[in-house]
Amino acid sequence: SFQESAPKTWPKAKLTPNARVILEKRYLKQENGKVIETPEDMFYRVANVIAEVEERYGKGKKEVKELAKEFYAMMANLEFMPNSPTLMNAGRDLGQLSACFVLPIEDSMEKIFDAIKFAAIIHKSGGGTGFSFSRLRSKNSTVRSTGGVASGPVSFMKVFNAATEAVKQGGTRRGANMGILRVDHPDIQEFISCKEDNKEITNFNISVGITEEFMKAVKERRDYDLIDPHTGKAVGKLSAPEVFHTIVDHAWRNGEPGIVFLDRLNRDNPTPKIGEIEATNPCGEQPLLPNEACNLGSINLKLLVTEKNGKAVVNWERLSYVTRQAIHFLDNVIDANTYPLPMIEEMVKGNRKVGLGVMGFADMMILLQTSYASEDAVEYAEKIMNFIQTEARLESQRLAEERGTFPNYEGSIYDGVRKLRNATLTTIAPTGTISMICGASSGVEPLFAVAYTKTVMDGTAFVEVNPIFENYAKEYGFDSSELMRKIADKGTVLGFSEVPDWVQAVFVTAQEIDPEWHIRIQAAFQKYTDNAVSKTINFANSATREDIAKAYELAYELNCKGLTVYRDGSRDEQVLSAGTSQ
Ligand code: UDP
Repeated sequence: SFQESAPKTWPKAKLTPNARVILEKRYLKQENGKVIETPEDMFYRVANVIAEVEERYGKGKKEVKELAKEFYAMMANLEFMPNSPTLMNAGRDLGQLSACFVLPIEDSMEKIFDAIKFAAIIHKSGGGTGFSFSRLRSKNSTVRSTGGVASGPVSFMKVFNAATEAVKQGGTRRGANMGILRVDHPDIQEFISCKEDNKEITNFNISVGITEEFMKAVKERRDYDLIDPHTGKAVGKLSAPEVFHTIVDHAWRNGEPGIVFLDRLNRDNPTPKIGEIEATNPCGEQPLLPNEACNLGSINLKLLVTEKNGKAVVNWERLSYVTRQAIHFLDNVIDANTYPLPMIEEMVKGNRKVGLGVMGFADMMILLQTSYASEDAVEYAEKIMNFIQTEARLESQRLAEERGTFPNYEGSIYDGVRKLRNATLTTIAPTGTISMICGASSGVEPLFAVAYTKTVMDGTAFVEVNPIFENYAKEYGFDSSELMRKIADKGTVLGFSEVPDWVQAVFVTAQEIDPEWHIRIQAAFQKYTDNAVSKTINFANSATREDIAKAYELAYELNCKGLTVYRDGSRDEQVLSAGTSQ
């Protein structure tokens, strides 16, 4: 219904060469192995499909066109980017636009294999799936119809894993899974150690679903009950401090399992009458009800710094505009989306959850000449996310006035408080690929390195020197190719006497930052995020188990919804690696 090429007079996308390579590989339309779409055409395709939704709400062609132009500009300027499936699939055959799904697993052979089939359909379209295995009966309990014994959650996870492996080859991107088991499930110990061998269950991230009762038992150094998922009755006991220690020990060894605070996810469940939250999407930032999906989008904070009286400051005015347009965009995505299953469509359209977040936070701190590991950065994090959440709610309220509240509004936590179009508005995604498209630091993570090698899915490696660092080097007179090479080898600028102290402080990297600051930044964003925050807490290789235990306790204290830790060098294959030597 629209021409395929972006009008020549519309702004061009200022993409880095790396961003172009990524887009050409997997995002742009291809025919017989040849790319037949420019990045501008892609943004135009997406903007049109999402803006056309207006017609369903009584808007005319002219308004659609104007809105499409605004959506286009936001993307082409790299100020806002929807999650990858929206870029890849809008206006094309798949039409599946969401990154995150949670599927229920009921305790029967039919339901278990239904979930595997549904996951395969979702993976094919570029979505990731999260599951709770907590409803499955434990290993060695009886199977009434056959008189045999059950093989338990972990054995079924291996089947899900194998199915994902097979689908992976044909999909638009690797199918990712999250597996969650409640800490009071009788098979919890087997679950905690199920990824001990790095080569097992590779298509899953795993997290232990921690309860308040468990945390209390850890503190009081006592046993807690294991609960039979069928009868709800206690069937055994474990020492809470010991289980806590086992989780810490495994996370210390190779970063898994993570933890998620289940009771907290449900404390913030906006629609408790519709269901209980048992799981999150693969990277943990999006808690969802069974059969629910969510589409994400992220604002590029790197581009929201401006100059006032010769000083770099946050561009609040532009941030307000981009936030509102982004929420409008994400709400439209819900209607433009093609859903892989009817029950998912029903659930999504009932709650209309969206997840707007940020990328380029570390870049923004650098531009504001603020160290990520500082009170000032924590303050910025809170202020920025508070602002985004406030503006997002205003826009959702405006949309509710125009289009009605989300259908499950009645009985929701907003009922009688505030009319909103969307049950949730904010989520901090990892932005693994879209941050590369935007040339920004990912999500709310600090810089991984000032210069680094990044290996993407198909094995292509990129060498990158932080462009802001290059600019500073020119501006402050320490730009030498010899120095750049040394920094690239080391990955960090700490200790290079040629680099002024304040530049060293501002370019602090993930592993140099004390875990406490990592967690405080995560907590600061969480405070104003409806859903959760994707964040990895980096530790030096020399970190001890006690350091990890302390981090868990701090995350709990500061109201985080979960925690993922990673100790440098603890896995053979790292996605990111400091320096260019690898
Ligand atoms: N995801 C996935 N497979 C991938 C990468 C991501 O299924 O290879 C899903 C997963 O649910 C993840 C979410 O997409 O939590 C968001 O990831 P990210 O922000 O990195 O995606 P991007 O939009 O940058 O591609």
